[in-house]
Amino acid sequence: MAYRRPTRQVTVGDDRVGRIRIGGDAPVSVQTMTAGYTYDIDKCVAEIHKLAAAGADIVRVAVPEKKDTDALKEILPQVRVPIVADVHFHFQRALESIEAGVHKIRLNPGNISDKVQVRDVIQACKQRKLPIRIGVNEGSIVERKDKQKRLKELGGVFSNNRHGHFLAIMIAKLEEYLDIFHEQDFHDIVISAKSTDPTLAIDAYTEISKRFDYPLHLGVTHAGPKETGTIRSVVPLGHLLASGVGDTIRISYANDPVYEVQDGLELLYCLGLRPRKGVELIACPTCGRIQVDLFTLVQDVRKKLAEEIKLPIKVAVMGCIVNGPGEAEGADVAIFAGDRRGIIYVQGQRVANVPEEEILEALLAECRKFEGMVEQGQAKLGEKKVDILPPDPIGELGSGFDKIAAGNVDKLATLTVSGK
Ligand code: SF4
Repeated sequence: MAYRRPTRQVTVGDDRVGRIRIGGDAPVSVQTMTAGYTYDIDKCVAEIHKLAAAGADIVRVAVPEKKDTDALKEILPQVRVPIVADVHFHFQRALESIEAGVHKIRLNPGNISDKVQVRDVIQACKQRKLPIRIGVNEGSIVERKDKQKRLKELGGVFSNNRHGHFLAIMIAKLEEYLDIFHEQDFHDIVISAKSTDPTLAIDAYTEISKRFDYPLHLGVTHAGPKETGTIRSVVPLGHLLASGVGDTIRISYANDPVYEVQDGLELLYCLGLRPRKGVELIACPTCGRIQVDLFTLVQDVRKKLAEEIKLPIKVAVMGCIVNGPGEAEGADVAIFAGDRRGIIYVQGQRVANVPEEEILEALLAECRKFEGMVEQGQAKLGEKKVDILPPDPIGELGSGFDKIAAGNVDKLATLTVSGK
């Protein structure tokens, strides 16, 4: 079990949608946010269903207008996942969302700071036992009007940090805001400190984790398109989670939020923070030795296995004999390719040698069969029954292998056997 920073725990949800715990000994949860308008009830419900089906533990919706909180009354009874109302500028939206039956509120100290208004929201949440996330986003937290004065007063506290000024403002604002909650004896709190700068996110969450024992919601805000946003998000979140900081996560992309859920879950699986659901797929990047259309094969395999296989079977799709046997040994089901054909293994045992056009179906059939065997107790995940003997690269993998081995087949086969 990986080290986790000890924190308080809050619960989001109810008997009907289920209860997700955040912090303490709870597994790290994955959140996302709908991309469509909340007032568009049918579309919003459909999007929430889609995100829950993708594996989201909690879904957040924006409620900028009264028509959005009105819509919540009709949306909430139709969904089966805890819903968070994301509130900015208008504290009334928080009160209306609570009245509608939402499961958690997100407040931004940067735009709802009036103490009386915040107290009203706290009291309403207290009565219904709802948690509140305090989200001190970099973009909205820095108070423009007194920025220079605050920097002078507080900058020295973090003068050794690369983000000293911002950290000082964030922490000070957070402390001030928390005072309002503590005065009301309210502690069902989750904190986030998102930034567009991954290094600032690391430093902010690290400093907050040292000062407060509230659970932390990790995220890099406005990470951008998925193509670059993945690295921007996963580097700081992975760093923090690997050091035990973080209790719930949201990856944010300028794209379909289903990707946020999928990548958030994959991050947690990779760090051993959640037991994997569904197939773990490894595949080679291909190189000049490849003799099948591996990229298409990998995408087809990924899509089909995600639809059909529920157990965390490890599947390897490898391009050739160089790394094929080694990776296949560590996988439950594996294929490595030769000249327009592939050899399939199940836990080290060779089960098929098929032409390229039959690889996908043959591999899927073996995965289905293997899953059935595991379910019936006839096989165990991760067990290796026999060592893989490298195939004959000319005979079994196809006569074109001489192109790969550049006329030096014996040397290549020797390298593979020794694993170098
Ligand atoms: S397994 Fe073979 S084809 Fe794939 S990257 Fe390695 S050497 Fe290249």
